[in-house]
Amino acid sequence: MGFEVIPIMTMQGNAFLLRGDHVGLVDTLTPWRYRKLVARLGDFRVSVGDIEFVLITHHHFDHCGNLAKIKSLSGATVIAGEADAPVIEGAADAPPPSKLSRLGKAMAVLPEPVINRYQRYEPATVDRKLTGGETVEEFGLEVIAVPGHTAGGVAYYDREGRRAFIGDMVSNYYAKPGMPALMASESLEEIFASQEVLSMLDLDIAYPGHGVVLQPDASKIIDDFARAKKAEYGR
Ligand SMILES: [Zn+2]
Repeated sequence: MGFEVIPIMTMQGNAFLLRGDHVGLVDTLTPWRYRKLVARLGDFRVSVGDIEFVLITHHHFDHCGNLAKIKSLSGATVIAGEADAPVIEGAADAPPPSKLSRLGKAMAVLPEPVINRYQRYEPATVDRKLTGGETVEEFGLEVIAVPGHTAGGVAYYDREGRRAFIGDMVSNYYAKPGMPALMASESLEEIFASQEVLSMLDLDIAYPGHGVVLQPDASKIIDDFARAKKAEYGR
């Protein structure tokens, strides 16, 4: 069930090409990074039409920005958290900016259309809706529910390979672990709980939605970070 992971990194976020028995893509970058995505896939002789599965970590536009286009060109099976599916499918708006951060508080007073325009992307049908505990058999990836940033956030865990795709639960800009954007998060308590779940996996490598890959001993990096943050927040 081994597969190769090819990071596709941009300043606005990451996607990951999975190449094994099947071709998969974890997340899809912002809408305006489509050409970069295509070019990077091309470097590995993969075209958008080759993608069989798109595994989404959460519903934000910098992860779902090119989902509809990829699905329409490839017919890929889209996999995402059940609680995030209504936003991805366009049946619900993303929740308004969170009051967890000062920026979120400031943004909450912006007119609704401004916020929606920033977050909007073309919706796509989610074919497999996850709640955690499932396995994406095609890649041997266990699904771990990691709510807090979004309600339906999921991580994908390759137990054998000791690696996981962790979405925004811990960022790693310039190799410095950080919190998910609190402006666009739903619950600090749940973020801490989800980070703890990740810290208890046996991870050598964690692929974050933003920043560089966490390694080696990614579980310990996450654990150290989460403990320090909790103390900082007095939790
Ligand atoms: Zn996000």
